[in-house]
Amino acid sequence: MTDRYDVTTPRELSGEGGAELSLRPGSLAECIGQAKVKETLSIAIAAARGRGDALDHLLFHGPPGLGKTTLAMVLASEMGVGVKMTSGPVLEKPGDLVSTLTNLNARDILFIDEIHRLRPIVEEFLYPAMEDFQVEIRLSDGPAARTVTMQIERFTLVGATTRFGLLTEPMRARFGMVERLDFYRPEELSQVVQRSADILGVDTTEEGVFELARRARGTPRVANRLLRRLRDYAEVRADSVISGEVARAGLRLLEVDEYGMDEMDARVLRTIIEKFGGGPVGLASLAVALSEDEGTLEEVYEPFLIQNGFLERTPRGRKTTERAHRRFGHPSTGKEGRSDAGPGGDGQSSLFRS
Ligand code: ADP
Repeated sequence: MTDRYDVTTPRELSGEGGAELSLRPGSLAECIGQAKVKETLSIAIAAARGRGDALDHLLFHGPPGLGKTTLAMVLASEMGVGVKMTSGPVLEKPGDLVSTLTNLNARDILFIDEIHRLRPIVEEFLYPAMEDFQVEIRLSDGPAARTVTMQIERFTLVGATTRFGLLTEPMRARFGMVERLDFYRPEELSQVVQRSADILGVDTTEEGVFELARRARGTPRVANRLLRRLRDYAEVRADSVISGEVARAGLRLLEVDEYGMDEMDARVLRTIIEKFGGGPVGLASLAVALSEDEGTLEEVYEPFLIQNGFLERTPRGRKTTERAHRRFGHPSTGKEGRSDAGPGGDGQSSLFRS
């Protein structure tokens, strides 16, 4: 059973490979951006520590790569407790969680990624664990099955989801804190890139760092990935320094759009412009045209496009903005958009989503 999920200490979690691991901030102070979330967390940590109690159950939601897993690990290290990591889809039955839950020490953190993908049977098993710190264990199968109830230590469940809308109401209600992570501003991402460059020993200029940061889709994971690609480029094609010029040339080669859009972002905008005359188009029709699930479109792809002024939600549906038309061409004028390097090829999609 232990092979179903990692039982780890914060330092041992792998998920992004060794390089990414060392780039993960280890404390709240090292985490960049997300000021409101960090303030809420630091108050909760201080209060829980003062009482010698576990943190309230906590849910992080928001697009991928913004730091949900990182914050769960930081919470554990700030609380001085252990953390066990698992994810919704790997938990097939309540039994998969029994030994994890019964082996938790007081105040430990159980992190469940993609918590919206928990099976109902596992979710129901978790409710009494979250609420009363009790688990019900079946001793035998069948209609006359015997069960015993076991008390477990007071622990903290930290859930993460990219699809808040798919979480059931009873599950949502059991979290004492619900925090949404937002995209990072270019200045914040510059700090992320600078920090990572220092850790990796990469030479940069301020301009190079900013050039990279503003094209990283507001996402630290993307910023770190681009940094590693640009490091390779700078070592092979330049004098190993990521300057503004080197960053621009390297990003052009990587087909990174000047706005940081990825392939799916571009596909959403192009579809609205080319198939629906710029909108407004209803979410359902758009989802069909893109062969994408409505919820994923709404919760995973649209926030970045809306926040960056490419897309608008109107009462009659989704509409592309002037900014999007400038980038991709306007259907009414037939004017072409910029034709320089931009998303659309597979290189871009693997760069961002792999
Ligand atoms: P999520 O769980 O939301 O998909 P992660 O926590 O795995 O995202 O974060 C992806 C990577 O981005 C991390 O490995 C880390 O290097 C970096 N990162 C995330 N948040 C921050 C932050 N606040 N400051 C600096 N780096 C960060």
